[in-house]
Amino acid sequence: MSVATDVRMHDAAAMPPERNRALPDVARGLGGVAPIGMNIAVLGATGSIGTQTLDVVRNCLRGRELVCGAGEVRVVAMSGFSDMEKFAPLVREFSPEVVWVPDGTAAAELSGRLSGGNTHASLSIPEILTGDGGLVAIASECSADVVVNALVGGAGLAPTLAAIGAGKDIALANKETLVTAGELVMGLAREKNVRISPIDSEHSAIWQCLQGSDIVEVEKILLTASGGPFRGRGREEIAAATARDALKHPNWSMGAKITIDSATLMNKGLELIEAMHLFNQPPDKVEILVHPQSIIHSMVQFIDGSVVSQMGLPDMRLPILYALSAPRRVATEYPRLDFLACGDLTFEPPDMEKFPCLALARHAAATCGTLPAVMNFINEWAVGQFLQEKIGFYEISDIISEAFGIYNVKTVTSIADIREAEEWASEFLETRKARPAVVHAKRKCEEA
Ligand code: NDP
Ligand code: MG
Repeated sequence: MSVATDVRMHDAAAMPPERNRALPDVARGLGGVAPIGMNIAVLGATGSIGTQTLDVVRNCLRGRELVCGAGEVRVVAMSGFSDMEKFAPLVREFSPEVVWVPDGTAAAELSGRLSGGNTHASLSIPEILTGDGGLVAIASECSADVVVNALVGGAGLAPTLAAIGAGKDIALANKETLVTAGELVMGLAREKNVRISPIDSEHSAIWQCLQGSDIVEVEKILLTASGGPFRGRGREEIAAATARDALKHPNWSMGAKITIDSATLMNKGLELIEAMHLFNQPPDKVEILVHPQSIIHSMVQFIDGSVVSQMGLPDMRLPILYALSAPRRVATEYPRLDFLACGDLTFEPPDMEKFPCLALARHAAATCGTLPAVMNFINEWAVGQFLQEKIGFYEISDIISEAFGIYNVKTVTSIADIREAEEWASEFLETRKARPAVVHAKRKCEEA
């Protein structure tokens, strides 16, 4: 039986039959029940992916049980972080059983907003959890069947592991989870027989291209990249770029961190590592191809030379919906791709010299062990600094490169190895911070 098309299919033969509900159509017949969960948790509900997930639930899934074949879809848990003004109306609309906010201050603000502005007599205030432990608890102990992880950065790892440990399926946007601890996460997912459905558009595309095929027949994955806002620009111009310049993505509207990652091409590097883990491929079988129109979301080349691609308008609601409904399709009224109007589809190799983050990520992907975790930690910090205009564009890659030069990579056997690597990265940054930021000071003078 060819069942390599699901991201956890490497050891499908070992699956107990009663947990085979997530097998693709080819493996279990079209009459099977779609693997959509009735109850959904949305972690990072106020963010770009979080709000689009809620839009998908609101417009495509709620009240559509006949299409999905799995009963009513409910949002039972949600998390917000810094923006209670945005979070409160979402909580009011979806009425989850439990929510998470970072601390007591945010909890007081949220409950004040919920009770103060309560024009719905029937609204019940949900249980509010706080703190790191609360985020792990909401991911693992709520009544969700599927946890949508739309958190940004390293904060996403612990809740993902907790949710998998509790046997919940994961719809994963938080790529940092797999970059940091891909082997542990995928290993636990296999052990617990939970499905990890990618939300990242490229990985959703690859997953869709693989439906009906066996993973051993894959010759290579062609991971497409828009090239970001600085594609084709000169190195000096890129070096002088500000956060405002880098936040102008040509095709996608996303959260700030991933938009900067797209400008440095670190995003594509993170996605390379994400693809390796999701589809069990070595890094040299993942080729990166710049495709500025973002119409082909990725492709798979098979051993017979045939290439399958997945296309569509750049709209994250589509991979989000597919992550929740796969392998079934749900009707939508979202805009359609018009081939006669979309213009030429072009391709070019990535410029590794102008975008050194991509070369660094390739190195981390090939080295594996704790190096991707160190890279991810430093990148997250450096992107934050760049957003605050404290460092320049190329300092992001310079700092990562400096760390790579002195770090002794370890094998990952447990989460403790990841935490130790992150502690090393944190200490490295502390030591480094003591030194003057010469490049940035120069840039500031020029701007003035
Ligand atoms: P956003 O910054 O828009 O949203 C992040 C969410 O996480 C918000 O709800 C935010 O809360 C919350 N959050 C931020 N920091 C913390 C923290 N320390 N602890 C708990 N919650 C926190 O990010 P995106 O939606 O753009 O991205 C989310 C993930 O999805 C990232 O890993 C990204 O790489 C990935 N992704 C995103 C795509 C996109 O189109 N946006 C495409 C593909 C992947 P608040 O807003 O209240 O501060
Ligand atoms: Mg992507």
